[in-house]
Amino acid sequence: MSLTFQDASARVDAYISQFKEGYFPPLLMLARLTEEVGEIARVIAHENGKTPKPGEDAGDLEMELADLMFVMLCMANERGLNLERGFERMMSKIERRDADRWTRKDTEGQDA
Ligand SMILES: [Mg+2]
Repeated sequence: MSLTFQDASARVDAYISQFKEGYFPPLLMLARLTEEVGEIARVIAHENGKTPKPGEDAGDLEMELADLMFVMLCMANERGLNLERGFERMMSKIERRDADRWTRKDTEGQDA
């Protein structure tokens, strides 16, 4: 399966557009985003020694990250932002800014 940012954005918009309520207002959307970050934290806590409460499952990190992505796509769509362009801008920024920040892996057959 290959899914572009544009595909994901369009699919979210098609889903949301079926309903009269439409996208949540900005502060509610921010609350939803924060909620999903908390759910990611809970899964990671469970993976690192926190015992789930009775009746609580350990969670599913892949699903929680996807939940966060859904909210991010909703925020971008509601504001007419293009996450693909944003991603490209962000990657260009860190590729330039952090080009010498980290220790590079040795390249096979070459000295590091
Ligand atoms: Mg979730």
